[in-house]
Amino acid sequence: MKILAISDVHGKKNPKLIDYLKENDDIPLVLIAGDITDFQITEFEPLSFVKEFIDELVEECDVDVIAIPGNCDPAGICNAIKESGPDEKPAFCLHNQLIAYENVVLLGYGGSNPTPFNTPGEIDDDKIYLHVYELLAEYDYIGNDSAPRVTILLTHAPPYDTKADLIPSGDHVGSQGVKKPIHEFQPSINICGHIHEACCIDKVGTTTIANPGTLENNHAVLIDVHEDATYDIEIVDL
Ligand SMILES: [Zn+2]
Repeated sequence: MKILAISDVHGKKNPKLIDYLKENDDIPLVLIAGDITDFQITEFEPLSFVKEFIDELVEECDVDVIAIPGNCDPAGICNAIKESGPDEKPAFCLHNQLIAYENVVLLGYGGSNPTPFNTPGEIDDDKIYLHVYELLAEYDYIGNDSAPRVTILLTHAPPYDTKADLIPSGDHVGSQGVKKPIHEFQPSINICGHIHEACCIDKVGTTTIANPGTLENNHAVLIDVHEDATYDIEIVDL
């Protein structure tokens, strides 16, 4: 089963995404790692973009959409995600939730650790740590039986001190609250976003970290999950 992950849409559609999904019609699921919209947009009501964007994806490309909020998404983002998609294929807001999708377990946490820009979706890093820890611990307790599964942690903030949180100044600005529980539980994959220019694949222990970067730059992350719960992962050009 294939999964395409994108991030940081910031209220701008990219027709290449629709074309890619139409050409690759064996992808049933699209993950969005936050910042679908942007609180700074003034030309239209930022949240109105969410339904427009997700409806087009689902209707044109027949995919399921699972998304989390980013730090630039205004309040009400989870409801806007849940109200998107047609009635028979509604989008799912994965913030602070875990769900199974075939042999994949998805765990999500939106927002980011504090930034210098005073954006709406900033969360204290200690709180991120507690919540992400609890999500991963809950899965470890209730679901971690012998069935082979790929676990995907979907966060907006990248883990601290990786290629995924590196800004042009050379500083790492990611979240310790995302990094620590990855160390502790080693989910198979962490899809993140937030740092637009840090499109990459990296590793934290055995966990693969993948940041597709901003959708505007025409990149996405493609995950191919096999039945035995092994997987391939790569950055693709749209
Ligand atoms: Zn962003």
